[in-house]
Amino acid sequence: MELSIVVPLLNEAESLPELTRWIARVLTARGLSYEVLLIDDGSTDDSWAVIEALASQDATLRGIRFNLNYGKSAALNVGFAATRGRVVCTMDADLQDSPEELPELYRMITEDGYDLVSGWKQKRYDPLSKTIPTKLFNGATRAISGIKLHDFNCGLKAYDQRVVKAIEVYGEMHRYIPVIAKWAGFKKIGEKVVQHQERKYGVTKFGLERFIYGFLDLASITFVSRFRRRPMHFFGTLGTLSFFIGMVLTVWLTGEKWWLSLHNMKARGVTQQPLFFLSLVAVIIGVQLFLAGFLAEMVQLNGPRRNDYLIRDTLR
Ligand code: UDP
Ligand code: MG
Repeated sequence: MELSIVVPLLNEAESLPELTRWIARVLTARGLSYEVLLIDDGSTDDSWAVIEALASQDATLRGIRFNLNYGKSAALNVGFAATRGRVVCTMDADLQDSPEELPELYRMITEDGYDLVSGWKQKRYDPLSKTIPTKLFNGATRAISGIKLHDFNCGLKAYDQRVVKAIEVYGEMHRYIPVIAKWAGFKKIGEKVVQHQERKYGVTKFGLERFIYGFLDLASITFVSRFRRRPMHFFGTLGTLSFFIGMVLTVWLTGEKWWLSLHNMKARGVTQQPLFFLSLVAVIIGVQLFLAGFLAEMVQLNGPRRNDYLIRDTLR
């Protein structure tokens, strides 16, 4: 199979017939073999009934239904695991993303050799309350991750199958799939300007809290992917540095005091000096950080994922 389309959805019953018809029209015209995976993320409207009805007419449709609303990341993760296509595309169910983009995205993966191609809604049809914070969000993510994308959270993306089978999307991490992919070693990341429409049916499922959670997620994902296998390198470095500074200050204070009293000069009490408290804190923090690193190292050593390396290709 050439192409798998993964569509996470929550209460999008009205959009589904139009969406699936449109996808089928575009892809059959191109003669691509494909499947569409509709992941019902615990809808409370009749999305699932609509999916069942559509699937009974159309063998390219597959459905997975969550018992509860677990979030878009969960829906994508489960959808990814079920895909069979050489290329995997994701798109939102609300008709804001256009299926017309799919063939070109497919071509960029198979012919230009991209690991991941992200859509860029250059001209967006969303309220300002969404587009302005999004600019900040994208700028910060670009700076931290070093990936030159304009629109990290675009629902329309295409992946080499290797990428979706290798990465894990959890929590609210769907906003950072390009970052996750890069840290997993899939570095050829491209971008394609895509058409964007106003939401036709239903309402948006994300409020402003997305931006707070978003930044925390970026912090943890950057940290975890860099130091998960070697926490001691992070904590140990900081801890050693802090401990060293504390020790130097302590030696200085002690030496000074000793030297001054040796020469019968007037010396301040050691505890009278701000430097003393600084060195005390530095030594304690140093030991604490070192310990944190050591414990993290032990946890990591006992974890089930200490040797889960990603293999890109094998020969024979
Ligand atoms: N979605 C989902 N689970 C959720 C929230 C959203 O599967 O908990 C789906 C939603 O149905 C849509 C896509 O994720 O297909 C993008 O959501 P939405 O259009 O509300 O986001 P926006 O376009 O406003 O950023
Ligand atoms: Mg939308």
